[in-house]
Amino acid sequence: SMAACGEKKDSGKEATSGTVETGEQAESNGMKVGIAMPTQSSERWINDGNNMKKLLESKGYEVTLQYAEDDPQAQVSQIENMITQQVDALVIAAVDGDSLASVCGQAKANDIPIISYDRLIMNTDAISYYATFDNKGVGVKIGEYIKEKKDLDAAKAAGESYTIEFFMGSPDDNNAKFLYNGIMEVLQPYLDDGTLVCKTGRTSFDDTCILRWSQETAQQWCENYLSAQYADEKLDIACSAFDGFSYGIKAALTSAGYTAEDWPLVTGQDAELMAVKNIVAGTQTMSIYKDTRLLAEKAGTMVDAVLQDKEPEINDTEQYDNGKLVVPTYMCEPQPVDKDNYKELLIDGEYYTEEQINEK
Ligand code: BGC
Repeated sequence: SMAACGEKKDSGKEATSGTVETGEQAESNGMKVGIAMPTQSSERWINDGNNMKKLLESKGYEVTLQYAEDDPQAQVSQIENMITQQVDALVIAAVDGDSLASVCGQAKANDIPIISYDRLIMNTDAISYYATFDNKGVGVKIGEYIKEKKDLDAAKAAGESYTIEFFMGSPDDNNAKFLYNGIMEVLQPYLDDGTLVCKTGRTSFDDTCILRWSQETAQQWCENYLSAQYADEKLDIACSAFDGFSYGIKAALTSAGYTAEDWPLVTGQDAELMAVKNIVAGTQTMSIYKDTRLLAEKAGTMVDAVLQDKEPEINDTEQYDNGKLVVPTYMCEPQPVDKDNYKELLIDGEYYTEEQINEK
């Protein structure tokens, strides 16, 4: 059963608002932070978990890091355990943003503040801060990349068109809708005027969202689309919201016989190492680089804020309404990456080494 408020270990922390004096690093000694991450099946979350753990430990916190392997109920149990272990704060990247309200309420009842990490936790007032990337911006940048690479305005003027299919994120992930809206802000006009042609007709969020960001589903959909709709005409653009999808799309394109000659423009998100290798090899065109070191750093300032009464960095207090409150947010900036800028962004930026990228 849950530790009641009064039974809480004496960590020097009195309340979520932070009544302790502002202190040095020693202040955090002995304080425990629980990190709940969604899955190890995608490289990005492994990096997030490791970066966050390293950063918090360097600030003097003790860290418990858990992955829920995309099982919402498993994540609830992991968080319940962290509450029972009397962690002082929680950092949570939700599997299902809609299924955590109750366990977050339990944390709040135990005076454990919560930082929502990357994916917004919905329908609870137990969240202190939200650290994320500009999720709509991710979509806008994917859309703009397509618009510029294919020069849609020139195509429109010439009365030409490109075929396109969409592979969007999980319906239980608030980020997925922001991303979709960003993409459509740029591309919808070209769908409307026929410059972009979606032969399956699947352009709505509901028709294109893929539960739990499943690579297998993306591959299956792409295989189906190619055999049903693209026997006579090639697919020109695969608008993918996630590198994982792009791996599935690559497999589908390969088995349908696409080669370097007619390979479509394939987008992605996260700049995972595999995606960057594919960008170099030409089987993925671009991705969205989200520097997880930066996100960890911002989330770290939020942990200090709730536990040591420091000022966190916030740059948005409007966009992220979770149904119960507008969560004070720091939005990091995502950056498009392709074969022209990956060296500068990722190698010079020390996100990956050249050896890692060139390793077969
Ligand atoms: C993250 C993306 C990631 C996706 C799938 C989203 O919530 O913002 O960076 O690609 O989840 O893991």
